Amino acid sequence: GVCVSWGRHVTLRFDFYSSVMADQAFVTLATNDNYAKGAMVLARSLRNHHTTRKLVVLTGPQVSDPCQSVLKKLFDEVRVVDVLDSKDTAHLAMMKRPDLGVTFTKLHCWTLTHYSKCVFMDADTLVVSNIDDLFEREELSAAPDPGWPDCFNTGVFVFQPSMATYEKLMQYSAEHGSFDGGDQGVLNGFFSSWATTDISKHLPFVYNLSSIALYTYLPAFKQYGGNAKVVHFLGQMKPWSLTFDPKAQKVRGGSQDAGASHSSFLLDWWTLYSREVLPLLQEHYGDQPFH
Ligand code: UDP
Ligand code: MN
Repeated sequence: GVCVSWGRHVTLRFDFYSSVMADQAFVTLATNDNYAKGAMVLARSLRNHHTTRKLVVLTGPQVSDPCQSVLKKLFDEVRVVDVLDSKDTAHLAMMKRPDLGVTFTKLHCWTLTHYSKCVFMDADTLVVSNIDDLFEREELSAAPDPGWPDCFNTGVFVFQPSMATYEKLMQYSAEHGSFDGGDQGVLNGFFSSWATTDISKHLPFVYNLSSIALYTYLPAFKQYGGNAKVVHFLGQMKPWSLTFDPKAQKVRGGSQDAGASHSSFLLDWWTLYSREVLPLLQEHYGDQPFH
């Protein structure tokens, strides 16, 4: 019979939705302590904007113990990926393409098959608004790259973990390499139909808003930048390579124009870092020096 009481109906629906959420995750990558700081800020920003999904970080053996401990506090799952040590196709691919070390670690995200769908985010991204709606998108959804808009930027992308896809990606990168030396070249080669086939796989630019947009198209930034959902500190200058003056509430270092137009997002990053991450690091580092 279909005679289900309202109360039971509500319970069933609740179970359904909570189990769907538990098998979806945001995934990032940090192979060293600097990127680990970025990952910590990213995790806090996702939580502060009330994500209902799991948080996963892939790390390498170079990440220090104190940083690993803080990552464990902030993420639901910390997975140490040692491509050199692995006995799988990643290791074989690595032998052929030693230049693609970090790339192979990033591609490892496809092995997270205990999740049905994931959103990968670079460790140099910051969430400024809830982005759980990204899980309505299919693989491979991403935003255009500001430098070459027929390519997608791999700082934020929706993917579906699958061992079959992982094996194909490993094989592809070992055979073809990467036209830009990183994961973006590999993934654009592999998912080459992105530019032309399905517009729903084009994420709006506000899901991966890079600082470059400020210099290349300032009027558009003024018009649409207020709807920013994810800020991406793409390029050489990362927030953690600058310094923060808490008294003046100013970020210092880097080039002048970077400081000027970009400073409100940089300030957001540093505020989150100093309020919510630094205290955890201080706990775990004890007397050891750090910054
Ligand atoms: N990454 C890392 N260790 C590295 C370099 C990169 O863990 O030594 C990861 C990190 O998640 C980073 C991503 O790979 O955000 C892509 O690199 P990056 O953000 O520096 O490239 P960009 O976005 O500036 O092109
Ligand atoms: Mn990046």
